[in-house]
Amino acid sequence: MNYKRIDFESTYFDLFELSEGVYATISKKDSGASVNAGFFDLGNYIIVFDTHIYPGAARDLHNAIIELYDKDPSFIINSHFHIDHILGNCLFPESIPIMSTQVTLEKIKEVSFDQLKRYRETAEEEILKRKEMLNSEDAPFGEIEIYNDLEFYKYVTDPNFKIILPNFLIKDEIIINGINKTVHLIPCGVGHTESDILAYFPNEKICFMGDLLFANLDDSWAPSESGRFNAVDPPKLYEILKAIIEKDIKIFVPGHGELSTKDAVQMNMDFIKENFLKT
Ligand SMILES: [Zn+2]
Repeated sequence: MNYKRIDFESTYFDLFELSEGVYATISKKDSGASVNAGFFDLGNYIIVFDTHIYPGAARDLHNAIIELYDKDPSFIINSHFHIDHILGNCLFPESIPIMSTQVTLEKIKEVSFDQLKRYRETAEEEILKRKEMLNSEDAPFGEIEIYNDLEFYKYVTDPNFKIILPNFLIKDEIIINGINKTVHLIPCGVGHTESDILAYFPNEKICFMGDLLFANLDDSWAPSESGRFNAVDPPKLYEILKAIIEKDIKIFVPGHGELSTKDAVQMNMDFIKENFLKT
């Protein structure tokens, strides 16, 4: 894999340029969140792929774009409805269109408002717990994660903080031919969730997988044997991965975990085959 780390300060993620204008934010292991995101400069459009769970990470993502390009992104993609990929939507100007599938929009409406409500209801207690951890010798989380959590609760309890819904809905694959590069946004149907979108750069041989791919994580995550496997329909996810692995792709950006090659896709497929597919 050929990519470079960009000198950008964030307690949440490392910023990598995978090809000119194609960036991935890979969560730092001690940040408290494992979710990844990215952004792409097509020459005339800057597109954000997912917006993190920590609002501070979404703020840093936005700042990275401003630092590099001195302008806001043209639009945002929510790859799927899980809150760790969409909560940061509201850290971007509301005028920026947010793209998802109709199914993702409906699922966000169904679950995320309640999730935000729960975060708010438990905030006081959680803040207290984190503050106690700062003075404790055997805190379950490291200091960076505790501070990130404290910032999280400060953001989500702000009355101005809200869930921003996707408002630009796609059903089938769309291809955006930018001045400098082309991206295919491909809704894959049921797999990890009821609807997942991936972003594929055929010329650069890069694919942003969202949570269709989990890679190189510790044993509590798929696809390790003891890990929980997070997919509503593993056989359908297998078919999606089977189609993707056949393409000429050099870098896969997983929804969680390190930048990967086909090996990680194969590992996920092997795990599904072993555990979910009837022989
Ligand atoms: Zn997910």
